[in-house]
Amino acid sequence: MVNTPLAERVCEAMLHNAGLFLRKAVEEIVGHDDTSDAAFDVDRATLVTVLIQMGVELVSTAIVLRTEGLASIVKPKDLPVSTADAEARWAAGTIKTLTFEEIKLKAAKYFGDEGFWDIIGQLQHSRNKLMHFHAPLDTGDRFDLKYDATRVLVQVVLALLRTDEYDFAYVAEALMGGELYQRLLSFGPYRDRIAAQAREMERLPLRCPMCSIRTYLPNGEACIGCGWSGVLRLLTCPSCDERSVIYDHLNLPLNSWLNAVCGNCEWEGGVSHCHECDFDYTTEKYTRLECPWIDDHDQRKVGKH
Ligand SMILES: [Zn+2]
Ligand SMILES: [Zn+2]
Ligand SMILES: [Zn+2]
Repeated sequence: MVNTPLAERVCEAMLHNAGLFLRKAVEEIVGHDDTSDAAFDVDRATLVTVLIQMGVELVSTAIVLRTEGLASIVKPKDLPVSTADAEARWAAGTIKTLTFEEIKLKAAKYFGDEGFWDIIGQLQHSRNKLMHFHAPLDTGDRFDLKYDATRVLVQVVLALLRTDEYDFAYVAEALMGGELYQRLLSFGPYRDRIAAQAREMERLPLRCPMCSIRTYLPNGEACIGCGWSGVLRLLTCPSCDERSVIYDHLNLPLNSWLNAVCGNCEWEGGVSHCHECDFDYTTEKYTRLECPWIDDHDQRKVGKH
């Protein structure tokens, strides 16, 4: 442990604590019963605002520290003169870091889009109102917070994912606990609004195989709902006629038949691969497997080569 560079240990500690705050925030969010489409109550909104603001502050600092080093997050006049000095002052708690305003400018280079930092600015403003004046958050803000808070949390997981060599599931698990993250993604107000946003971005967002929100963008090859990215090979749906049938194309060569679902309509069936013409095709469940182009095989082979 002592052999690990200080910056790395500080970074780990920051992310650990960020996880603590963000997990609590998620628990508060998913604890909200949204059946009547009401705003968060004042106490819940207060906790969510403060916890997320602290969590994002720590994550931002950790990411800048990890990518730019200790000197980039410490006030210049406070810079330790040696490694030993840094160790001693860290233990004593006398290293002064930059303000979040200063860290934010650096962190924005590594993660979050404009919308994300706008929300963070609002959360910061709300937090200051709460901490210094104990001014209550108004209903509109508490209503928007249902969506904004979740959006920020998903983006934080994505930010860490981009700076980590680990995969999506691992990062979400390490920061928030996988199950809690799943519960966050199933929070109704978030699902509705992020799906609406996806529809503004592409003509036909599909139901994501990871989070099942209709936020997988075929052109973008990523889901804006949960952050999963991956190339899906799509087939034309026999029911809705869109290019929207999703299946595990990497595993198809090892199987004669695999389950497939449409990401647009309710169609469920299967998919198979024809070794004659080298195409994948959809099948209804429990039907004999037969390539739909069987009569055109000679022609298709010529066309392919
Ligand atoms: Zn997704
Ligand atoms: Zn369909
Ligand atoms: Zn065929």
